[in-house]
Amino acid sequence: EHRYLDPGKLTNDRFLSGLLSPNFSEQNCLGRYKSSMYRKPSPFPVSTYLIQRLREYEDYHKRCGPNSELYQRSVEQLKSGRNVENSECKYVIWTKSNGLGNRMLSIVSTFLYSLLTKRVILLDLTEEMENLFCEPFPYSTWVLPPDFPIRDFQRFYKDSPESYTKMVENKTISDDVDISPESLPALVYLHAENVNMHLQNHIFCDDDQRILQKLNWMILRSDSYFTAALFLMPMYEKELSQLFPVKESVFHHLGRYILQPANPVWQIIERFYKTYLYNADEKIGIQIRIFPQAPVPFEKMYQRILECSEKEKLFPEVGPPNITNATSNPTKHTAIIVVSLFSEYFEKIKSTYYENSTLTGEMVAVYQPSHEVHQKTHAQFHNYKALAEMYLLSYCDKIVTSAGSTFGYVSHGLAGSMPWIIRPPSWMYPGNGPACIKSLSVEPCLHSPPIIECKGKDNVNDAEIPVPYIKHCEDSDSGLKIF
Ligand code: GDP
Repeated sequence: EHRYLDPGKLTNDRFLSGLLSPNFSEQNCLGRYKSSMYRKPSPFPVSTYLIQRLREYEDYHKRCGPNSELYQRSVEQLKSGRNVENSECKYVIWTKSNGLGNRMLSIVSTFLYSLLTKRVILLDLTEEMENLFCEPFPYSTWVLPPDFPIRDFQRFYKDSPESYTKMVENKTISDDVDISPESLPALVYLHAENVNMHLQNHIFCDDDQRILQKLNWMILRSDSYFTAALFLMPMYEKELSQLFPVKESVFHHLGRYILQPANPVWQIIERFYKTYLYNADEKIGIQIRIFPQAPVPFEKMYQRILECSEKEKLFPEVGPPNITNATSNPTKHTAIIVVSLFSEYFEKIKSTYYENSTLTGEMVAVYQPSHEVHQKTHAQFHNYKALAEMYLLSYCDKIVTSAGSTFGYVSHGLAGSMPWIIRPPSWMYPGNGPACIKSLSVEPCLHSPPIIECKGKDNVNDAEIPVPYIKHCEDSDSGLKIF
């Protein structure tokens, strides 16, 4: 099986330096231990503290997760309508919002939140996400069982009666951190979703989190990479720096830990990789995302791609080959994969190398895995392909993504590499800024920064950001990102 892989070129660190537990049957999740063989070694160390906390979490999840006695007891407590003190198990139920890239960023953020707050993460997994990811925790499941007393999670929103911010606003919950747990409701909903390009107040404040910590059952919805907001909170600062000595490694480590593609997706990934990418000396991946709400004509976008490529020397240059030149390499094979809903970018790039030779004499093959035309987040097989393509991009030596795309963030985050970000000519980028920028952090961007007016303190949002490792994103002036 492994004869396809060249050990000199690829790593074979099956357990990702201890990030992954060895307690799994390999057959149930073929990609778990194989994925790293297709990628360059991770540039970031995995701290022994993170490994320890993950193993502890796995034990906790097994003890309190579905099918356990403690889980049954907690469900009974929820049904009784009362919160209780000192419960051994606390839960956060993740529920979906937006496209797959957004969902993956919010699952990773929710998992980090569950590590910080000692909650069991469970997913409200609707049909279109079935068999997309492997079970990440041994001897248990992270899927919320179908007999859970609440089924309709989409009814929760920022103004629902169970919403924490609504309860604070209505004063149905006191903002006294010494409030007794018995006086709190059995369930709280945390709306960590973008509202007018912001995350709500009273979510990322230490005092509010101390109250929330007393509630055993939490439902959380987010479309955002709210990890960046957790890094703004004084109460988690020490723990986060122990978990992640290199701050910008959060998504890279937790994403590779928790978002393993399930077998049907892994088969797509491996088939494509072995067929088209394995023999390439260099792999270049470009993701072209055109947002329906900000359409860009093909010619204009293509022009930006060319400008970017020329300036940053991304694609092999075309022209008469000069094989006497020191930089020429007529035996080199380069593969370009184009990831986009549309086929026209692929066609144009492919014809460029069909009609022209390269300056170096290298051979360039251009591929596109799919061109789905429309986003169909409700369709399972469509999501398989989207996930497969995020993974395929993450195996490339050079990754070029589109500004503002969470799909792109996932691919370079998994890779642990800094992408070139193409900025379309649009309302988002008025003027003649550069066609692309090289990112300076591998982390995803949180587009909607939190409003933090904790107990009358300053709004960090527009004022100075209180910690040096959070800065504005290269592709979003108001967004925040960990560096
Ligand atoms: P974002 O909208 O770019 O931030 O990324 P999301 O992943 O949240 O939503 C976009 C969705 O559109 C994806 O999840 C796919 O369903 C679909 N999509 C967009 N671009 C592509 C692509 O290049 N390939 C595939 N297969 N699907 C795509």
